[in-house]
Amino acid sequence: MVDVLWVPRTLDDVSIAPPPTVTLDDRFARELAEMALPWQAEEARDPRLLVLNEPLATELGLDPAWLRTSDGLRLLVGNLVPSGAAPVAQAYAGHQFGGFSPRLGDGRALLLGEVVDADGHLRDLHLKGSGRTPFARGGDGLAAVGPMLREYVVSEAMHALGIPTTRSLAVVSTGRSVRRETLLPGAVLARIASSHLRVGSFEYARATGDVNLLRRLADHAIARHHSGAAEAERPYLALFEAVVAAQASVVAQWMLVGFVHGVMNTDNMTISGETIDYGPCAFMEAFDPGTVYSSIDRGGRYAYGNQPVVAEWNLARLAEALLPRFSDEQEEAVALAVESLGAFRRQYGAAWSAGMRAKLGLPDDLADAVVSPLVDDLLTLLQANRVDHTSFFRGLGAAARGDAEPARGLFLDLAAFDAWVERWRVLGPDADLMDRVNPVYIPRNHLVEEALAAATDGDLGPVERLLDAVASPYDERPGLERYAAAAPQDFGTYRTFCGT
Ligand code: AMP
Ligand code: MG
Repeated sequence: MVDVLWVPRTLDDVSIAPPPTVTLDDRFARELAEMALPWQAEEARDPRLLVLNEPLATELGLDPAWLRTSDGLRLLVGNLVPSGAAPVAQAYAGHQFGGFSPRLGDGRALLLGEVVDADGHLRDLHLKGSGRTPFARGGDGLAAVGPMLREYVVSEAMHALGIPTTRSLAVVSTGRSVRRETLLPGAVLARIASSHLRVGSFEYARATGDVNLLRRLADHAIARHHSGAAEAERPYLALFEAVVAAQASVVAQWMLVGFVHGVMNTDNMTISGETIDYGPCAFMEAFDPGTVYSSIDRGGRYAYGNQPVVAEWNLARLAEALLPRFSDEQEEAVALAVESLGAFRRQYGAAWSAGMRAKLGLPDDLADAVVSPLVDDLLTLLQANRVDHTSFFRGLGAAARGDAEPARGLFLDLAAFDAWVERWRVLGPDADLMDRVNPVYIPRNHLVEEALAAATDGDLGPVERLLDAVASPYDERPGLERYAAAAPQDFGTYRTFCGT
C-alpha cells in the first residue's frame, strides 16, 4: 500500500487546491510481477474531460471536483503518477476466434493500481488508450473518442440494468489524433474493475510452464474474488467452479436483455464474472439467435445465440490451464474438470429459465411443463415476426394490465400473437414484476451511433442525454420516447468494428 501525496510537476500545479491524499495499492504488480510489466502512459498534449462518473468517483473515495482539475485530468490519462504507484501493462494470453496466442497483454492499456472502495473492496484503476506498450505488436496503442465513449455508455447501461460489469470512471480526450479509416480525436478511458484477471491470464501463466506462478495467480484470484474457495477441500477446483457459476449467471443475464458481446475471446472473459471489453458489442433489435454485429465475426462464432456455448468453451480453456492444480494425477484432474464444467449448463439453464419467467411475469412455482413450451413458442414467434426484443417484453407488461396493443403492433402474424397471449394471460402474469426486469431504455444502436458521431464532432449533448436515459432503464419517463423506440427503417443493417 502506498500513501500518496501528489508531487507537483510545475509551479502552476502548486497553485491548485490542497492535493488530496490518495491511496493506491500495487497488489497485482507485487504478487504477480512476472505478469506485470512496469510502464508509463504516453504524454497527452491537451487533456480535456469529456465525461466523468461522479457517483463512481465518490464510491472510490476520489474527489470529483479534484478529478476535474488539471492534475485530476493528468491522473486520468496516466501522466500524473502518484509517487510509489507502479503502473503496469498486464500480460495475458488468449484464444481469439478459437486460435491460441500465448502473448497478448495490454497493448494499449495500463493498470495504474488498486483503490479501496467505500465497501472496503479492492478495485482496479485501469487506463485504455494510454499509448503503446511492449505488448502492442502492430497496434498504435491508442483509442479514439467514439469507441471509448461507447464503452462508457454501454458499460454504465449494463451496470444500471443490474448486470455485473467493469465500470467507467471517465473519458478524457488527449488532443492527439488517431489514425483509423480517417483521422479521429484520441481519448483515454479510465476503467474500474474488481480485477482484470481473465481466462487468458491463466492461459498465460500455464503456458509459461511455471507451476508456482500458476498457483500464485490462482491464490490471488481466490483472495480477490472467490474467497470461499480457500476453505474448500480442493481450493483450485472450487475457484474454477466459482468462475463457472459467475459466468453462467452473467451470460444468462446478457441473453435475457439481448446483449451481444461480439468478441468473446478468452482474454475478454473475466474471472470475477464482470462483463469486460466493450468493443464490437451491441444490443439485439429484432429477435434472432443468429444476430451478429461485428464486422470481423464472419463465421458468426460470437452470434447472440452462441454466447452460452462459447462461454462454456472458454471455461474449458480455463480448466485446461488449471489442470495441474486440480490434482497431481492427470486423469483425475481431467475427470474433476469435466464434472465441474458440467455444472455450467445446469446453472446457465436455471438462471435463464428463472429470468425468462420473470420477464413473462410468471410465478416460480408454475410447472416447467407449462412454461417451457410457452417460452419456446414465443421465441419462435418473435424470430418469425422479426420482433424488437426490448420493445416486446416491455410492451407485454401493458398486455398484463389489459392493453395488448403495444406488443401486438410489433407482429405481422396477429392471429398467432393473439393465440399465444391467451395462453399466457390465463397464467396470471404480474405486470409490476415484468416492469422491474424488462427495460424501457437500452443503448440502442442508432442512438449510440448518433451520440458518438456528435461527440466526435465536439458535441457531448447527445451522449449526456443517452447516459441519462440508460442510467434508469426500468423507469419510464415522459419526454424520453425516442430513447425507447426501435431504430428507424433507414438505419439499415448495423455493423460494429473491432478497429477500436
Ligand atoms: P481486444 O480483443 O480488443 O480486447 O484486444 C486484443 C488485443 O489487442 C489486446 O492484447 C489489446 O491490448 C490489443 N490491442 C487492441 N487494440 C490495440 C491498439 N490500438 N494498439 C495496441 N494494442 C491493441
Ligand atoms: Mg480485450
